[in-house]
Amino acid sequence: MIKTLLIHPDELTEKRADEFCRAGIDVIGLHPTGGKNAADSLAALVEKLGTREYRDVIDYAIGRGLKIEYCMHAFSYLLPRDLFGKHPEYFRVGEDGKRTSEYNLCASSPEAVDILSDNAVKLAKSLYRSRDRFYFWSDDADKRKCNCDKCKNLSFADQQIIVLGAVARKLRKVFPGAGVSYLAYFSALDVPTTAKEDGVFLEYAPFLKWTKGDEGEKTKIPALLGYFGKENSRVLEYWYDNSLFSHWRKPPVRFTPDEEKIRRDADFYAKCGFEEIASFACFLGDDYEELYGKPDFAPFVRAIERATSRRRPTERYGKNSATANFSGNAVV
Ligand SMILES: [Zn+2]
Repeated sequence: MIKTLLIHPDELTEKRADEFCRAGIDVIGLHPTGGKNAADSLAALVEKLGTREYRDVIDYAIGRGLKIEYCMHAFSYLLPRDLFGKHPEYFRVGEDGKRTSEYNLCASSPEAVDILSDNAVKLAKSLYRSRDRFYFWSDDADKRKCNCDKCKNLSFADQQIIVLGAVARKLRKVFPGAGVSYLAYFSALDVPTTAKEDGVFLEYAPFLKWTKGDEGEKTKIPALLGYFGKENSRVLEYWYDNSLFSHWRKPPVRFTPDEEKIRRDADFYAKCGFEEIASFACFLGDDYEELYGKPDFAPFVRAIERATSRRRPTERYGKNSATANFSGNAVV
């Protein structure tokens, strides 16, 4: 099973690529910071990707056999908020009945969906040597659906499908076979009721387990996999998310992986039929190493390899296996 770790863009160095490679990691996900300023951190990443210096680091990582992908909260970046002045109708109606440029968009505005998906194609083209799996997540907040007359009977999950379906259709014209992630967390944990869209795959992130101690969200997995299918599905865990454990403030806290927990969770996810398992691993860069020494990624790799080997052969090599279906080739 493909093993991915997500780190902040400035945490990628040649040294880090060597360490990931030695540890047995397959993919590095570059994740600009989320939260309220996600659009700015994504803009900064795009700028960084234009520099020879940063491209050299990515080339180095790929030369070592790693793959690169980009994972970010992107809707505010893809539908610029300064359009609100002229086109408030592009934006969502909040629970108070007022239009607001804060978070996401009106999924029933064809113009807004068009602009967002055109910009998604532009963004995809600027993601240097990315895999053809794109992670253009909705904005990083709960309960931010549109409540306008046209949207009010659509759940947040349905609104996501409308937007991501349009993104996938446009992306696939330029990158045939590309996929776009449906990030199932917060209210997107509900199963959509609208028709499934090709090219949209499930990415399940158990955020509430970590922030509220609520394990209930995993009961949603069978229905989500039933809707999206297992093909290309992945879990995005927080096992190594030292930014979460540090409450998103530097300096980072000391981190020790909980191997037993990782193993238990990984076995569960493999049994559910997920094709890939990823974890955030932010705040474990050079500054971490200076304070506490090298972080240990071996428990993550061991747990996933063990979980994969415990799958039945049909699950490992069947039509849903990642190796059978997905090339993982760089597209840019
Ligand atoms: Zn709406």
